[in-house]
Amino acid sequence: MTTKILIFRPIPYTYHLSICDILFLQRFVESGVLEWPLIFELFIFLFGMAVGSFLNVCIYRLPRPLSLIRPRSMCPSCQAKVAFYDNIPVLSYLWLRGRCRHCGAAISLRYPMVEVVSGLFAVAILIHYGLSWEALFLYALVAALLVVTFIDIDHQIIPDVITYPGIAVGFLASFLTGHITYKESLFGIILGGGILLLVASGYNLLTKREGMGGGDIKLLAMIGAFLGWKGVIFTIFVGSAIGAAVGTVSALRTEKGQKLAIPFGPFLSLGALLFIFFGPQIIGWYQQIIR
Ligand SMILES: [Zn+2]
Repeated sequence: MTTKILIFRPIPYTYHLSICDILFLQRFVESGVLEWPLIFELFIFLFGMAVGSFLNVCIYRLPRPLSLIRPRSMCPSCQAKVAFYDNIPVLSYLWLRGRCRHCGAAISLRYPMVEVVSGLFAVAILIHYGLSWEALFLYALVAALLVVTFIDIDHQIIPDVITYPGIAVGFLASFLTGHITYKESLFGIILGGGILLLVASGYNLLTKREGMGGGDIKLLAMIGAFLGWKGVIFTIFVGSAIGAAVGTVSALRTEKGQKLAIPFGPFLSLGALLFIFFGPQIIGWYQQIIR
C-alpha cells in the first residue's frame, strides 16, 4: 500500500483521491467482496480515463491558439461553460445522451472513446510493466501518441509543443528508469530525428516532392527517445507496413486521380504502441525466422 501512495505523490489532487479511495475500498477487501489487484486495476482505469479527459482537451486546443487551462471547457457550438458534473469521463456523455445540456448539439463519440482507450492503456501498461517509473513514463508516451494521432487525423500536423518536450522527457527517463540505456535513447533520437531528416531532405531535393513531413520526423525522434533505436526501427517498419496496406486499400476504393492525404502520424503511433506491448516477442520471432 505504501508504494501505491508513493507513486501519486507528485500530483496532490490524485494523491488525495487515492488515499480516500484506498481507505474506502479497504472495507470491500476486508469483507471479502473484492481483491486488491482488481481494485487497483479499476482505480488505474479511472485514473487513465481522467487523463483521457485531459487528452481530449489537448487534442482540441493544441492545434488552435487556445490555452489548455483557461477558459474552462465549453461547448463548441453554443460556447456554454461545461459544469464539472457534465465533465465526468464517459458517465456524463451517457447521462447527457451525447448532447450538450444547453443547446442540444451532438457531442462527438470520440470524447468518451479517447477516455476509455486511455483508461485501457493505463491498465495494460500496469499489467505489462507493473507499478514502476518505467510504466509511468511509457504511459506518458502512450498519452502523447494518442494526442498526436487525433490531431494528425484532424489537422495533418503534429505540434512541436508535444514532440520537443517529449524528446527531452524520453531522454531523461532513460536515466531514471534504466529500461533502456541513455546511449540507446540518444541513438534513438539521432536515428529517428537526424538520419531520417537527411533522407527526407534528400528526397525533397531530388524529387521536389515532400515524402515524410517534418512533424513525422520529430515524432520518430520522440519515439526513439523513449524506446531507443530498436524501437525506432521497429516503428518505421511496422508503421510503414500498416500505412502502406491501409493506403492501398483506400486508394483502390477511391476514384482514380483523386489525391489521397493520409497522415502518417497515426501509423507511426500504432507501430510504437505495438513495440511497447509486443516488441521483444515480435523481434524474437523475426530473429528465429531469419536464422
Ligand atoms: Zn452547446
